[in-house]
Amino acid sequence: MDIRPFEKKVWLASPTMHEGKELSYINDAFAKNWITTAGENVNEVEKISAKYVGVEEAVALSCGTAALHLAVKLAGERLYGKPDVGHGVLEGKKVLCSDMTFDATVNPIVYEGGTPVFIDTEYDTWNMSPQALEKAFDIYPEVGLVVLVNLYGTPAKLDEIKEICKKHNALLIEDAAESLGAAYKGTMTGSFGDYSIISFNGNKIITGSSGGALLVHTKEDADKARKWSTQAREAAPWYQHEELGYNYRMSNIIAGVVRGQYEYIDEHIARKKEIYNRYKEGFAGLPVSMNPFNDKDATPNYWLSCMVVDKEAMCKQVRSENEALYITEPGKSCPTEILETLAKYNAEGRPVWKPMHMQPIYRLNPFITTDGNGRARTNAYIEGGCADIGMDIFARGLCLPSDINMTKEQQEIIIEIVKSCFE
Ligand SMILES: *Cc1c(COP(=O)(O)O)cnc(C)c1O
Repeated sequence: MDIRPFEKKVWLASPTMHEGKELSYINDAFAKNWITTAGENVNEVEKISAKYVGVEEAVALSCGTAALHLAVKLAGERLYGKPDVGHGVLEGKKVLCSDMTFDATVNPIVYEGGTPVFIDTEYDTWNMSPQALEKAFDIYPEVGLVVLVNLYGTPAKLDEIKEICKKHNALLIEDAAESLGAAYKGTMTGSFGDYSIISFNGNKIITGSSGGALLVHTKEDADKARKWSTQAREAAPWYQHEELGYNYRMSNIIAGVVRGQYEYIDEHIARKKEIYNRYKEGFAGLPVSMNPFNDKDATPNYWLSCMVVDKEAMCKQVRSENEALYITEPGKSCPTEILETLAKYNAEGRPVWKPMHMQPIYRLNPFITTDGNGRARTNAYIEGGCADIGMDIFARGLCLPSDINMTKEQQEIIIEIVKSCFE
């Protein structure tokens, strides 16, 4: 193939700033000397976020993970009451959560002493399988909380999941960190959870360099989270504390960047959609498919374009905990070969997020598939396949360069590079 490596690296998803719009809000913070975790930018980010997603209130925080932590605390106190100081609100409690996700979705459960129970993935959306969730409630009927992610900007089957939660009297936390701007049956993701969160991390659909927000349905919850996020100070002339606090508030400088970025979110989504469709067309005829969604129900934000290699077209690939090997074969390929080839040409891809039940840190946590206890089978190697759906998508899937700053010409070259792996 007569292709030279890209002179400038093509990224998976890098920030896209706009001609000083973000800077103007930062300058405003400087001009007014609100160089702190309060100010007009913070207030505006809360207003804009709540309005955009369609929830009562948003609380601007230092990151999406902090927002998840406060969501877990709000849900936990509502379910189980306030714990004694020094104890987590979820101690001794199980929480059902998405398995194929970034670990920030589930870690806050553990911060609060809870035990994540991982629910297998479905092929339809690469999100939590409603059938496996039902199965988990059969096994753990006492569970009161579900944590769900909309992976890569594709909404989960939110009606089904909500219905199951309702049936079992469980609260839902929706991790919309990757899906800001994606909608399900015309309603924005981030509004489906009893408590939901979004992220403004550097690689997300819009960014503040860092930052996140908690999305809630009552002013009472919002005020509680605002208090916790600013060290839980009571109303008194001195520093007075009745409960444990955190330093989780968003900076007014970062809020300036986020505020500027919101003006371009639709443009970002439109660009991401073009990227996804160009890959889809470019790969026609290859033994691969793109990360799926049901276009009747779901309007993704197309944050990351991903692909899976057809089972029959997989060359041999093995992975240890931190290395991967493959044997190339004509007409076949695998994520490792494709990612290494992209890297050779100075383009960044990434394996699909490794499922939580496969992570050493969570090796003892329960994992539920549509058949029940998935732990009984995950260690068994099944010839020509995998023991569960998450493991299978991880084995055959990868995230493609999905950077808004990537040119059409660069993307066409990337498509050729991927094609060459199957020659
Ligand atoms: C990015 C991300 C988070 C965490 O957000 P931060 O702002 O980086 O803390 C949580 N969940 C998912 C699915 C994410 O992709």
